[in-house]
Amino acid sequence: ATEAESRDLVIIGGGVAGYVAAIKAGQEGMKVTCIEKRGTLGGTCLNVGCIPSKSLLNNSHLYHQILHDSKHRGIEVGDVKLNLKQLMKAKDQSVSGLTKGVEFLLKKNGVEYIKGAGSFQDEHTVKVELNDGGETSVTGKNILIATGSEVTPFPGLEIDEKTVISSTGAIALETVPKKMTVIGGGIIGLEMASVWSRLGSEVTVVEFLDQIGGPGMDTEIAKSIQKILKKQGINFKTGTKVLGGEKSGEGVTINVDSAKGGKEETFDADVVLVAIGRRPYTNGLGLENIGLELDERGRVIIDSEYRTKIPHIRCVGDATFGPMLAHKAEEEAVAAVEYIKKGYGHVNYGCIPSVMYTFPEVAWVGQSEQDLKKAGIKYRVGTFPFSANSRAKTNLDTEGMVKMLADPETDRLLGVHIVGPNAGEMIAEGTLALEYGASSEDIARTCHAHPTLAEAFKEAAMATYSKAIHY
Ligand code: FAD
Ligand code: NAD
Repeated sequence: ATEAESRDLVIIGGGVAGYVAAIKAGQEGMKVTCIEKRGTLGGTCLNVGCIPSKSLLNNSHLYHQILHDSKHRGIEVGDVKLNLKQLMKAKDQSVSGLTKGVEFLLKKNGVEYIKGAGSFQDEHTVKVELNDGGETSVTGKNILIATGSEVTPFPGLEIDEKTVISSTGAIALETVPKKMTVIGGGIIGLEMASVWSRLGSEVTVVEFLDQIGGPGMDTEIAKSIQKILKKQGINFKTGTKVLGGEKSGEGVTINVDSAKGGKEETFDADVVLVAIGRRPYTNGLGLENIGLELDERGRVIIDSEYRTKIPHIRCVGDATFGPMLAHKAEEEAVAAVEYIKKGYGHVNYGCIPSVMYTFPEVAWVGQSEQDLKKAGIKYRVGTFPFSANSRAKTNLDTEGMVKMLADPETDRLLGVHIVGPNAGEMIAEGTLALEYGASSEDIARTCHAHPTLAEAFKEAAMATYSKAIHY
């Protein structure tokens, strides 16, 4: 490629980070090329992550609810059968509709989309091994690394996606395993444990820490959801470390030990899900050709404007620092393009919501009680249980609560933590409040429609600076 053909922005990776940057840059009138090797756009999130997992969570919940939670509502159904093939087909349809939608959006915004694997030849040139065979190269004035992440393997347990599976295998099993062991009680572990337990599997989650939910979840909320999930039939072994495992005949045997050392145990399962985290993915990217280094956890090192030490090469999303979340990747993608185009951009890392899509959902934003304690920050707590909320009561979904944390002097909101129905939608209100620096009284004096679950949010705010009305 000649200098005359040089693109304003070349993006390696067409996941949420890459495709959003491509659309934004296209909208800004830049000449953009997006290189993706998967064959479809949308990355982990659309193809094997957020979207397919939420399809399975939604439909397995409906199935479970019809089976176990309909009679007392006055709905009697006859023979309820699971058609796993159709459940998977519905999931595949959601995925393909959305990935094609993204391809359309790239086209609409004038983005060149190359299907192939990109690697750095030099600081301005990316070589592409095309999926259809052959090779090409693209030069860019700016280059964005958006290559995402991959599952962290468990040493000694080779993932075959049949008996030892990652989340990718867990969204595509062809039969419901009789027994499933989940290594890691983080978000992937708990979402997938929910899906397969609802469909009839006997699921045990083994978690190293004393608390489930992965990093960031408030301890009180984590305890509450663990109790609820246990009632739904999921077994938990917390404070338990998986030492190793072995494929045995049709299944897998797992050895565990108390995290503090002590009694060793073994478990048998038909399927083992490895869900101990994800790690940045930069394999085959040719970073060595341009002298870019990674940190000790494999993350591309960047500054506050997403620049690597080669300033026209930037990195956003799972491949670099911060929580591995699709909406975080999206915010960074927009900000990185704005830095390139306008010289300024912004992401508020103190205000990125997290949602776990179990039933009920868990959602939070800002700091947890344990974060505040650790940092020595004083706080006031207000809680409101869904059992005292009229809409939750009419819906017969009363488990969970809203918990708010605010500064005792200024009343400024510090964190919101919800376990309850629709928590994932409700947290948007908490995020907006936090972003705007609202006080708990600001929220409490905002009129909320009746009867809604969001009234629990308002009443938790009331309880933070004064008293709730209905509890
Ligand atoms: P990715 O989505 O991983 O995309 C990177 C892309 O780059 C990939 O498609 C890859 O093929 C491509 N690529 C890599 N190297 C090259 C190369 N050399 N050349 C060309 N292409 C390349 N997050 C949420 O916020 N909400 C959720 O509900 C949620 N659920 C999840 C469920 C599961 C099971 C998993 C695994 C993840 C989930 N996540 C969720 C996390 C979310 O998927 C990621 O945070 C998000 O996908 C990160 O986007 P990204 O663009 O940085 O990386
Ligand atoms: P995670 O980091 O959230 O949880 C991994 C858990 O495994 C931790 O609790 C850890 O203590 C435990 N663990 C590690 N080693 C262990 C061992 N030897 N024995 C027992 N337990 C062990 O990772 P994840 O659940 O794999 O998810 C990966 C990423 O994907 C996360 O960043 C997550 O945010 C993202 N994700 C997000 C969503 C969502 O937003 N709804 C859904 C799925 C995934």
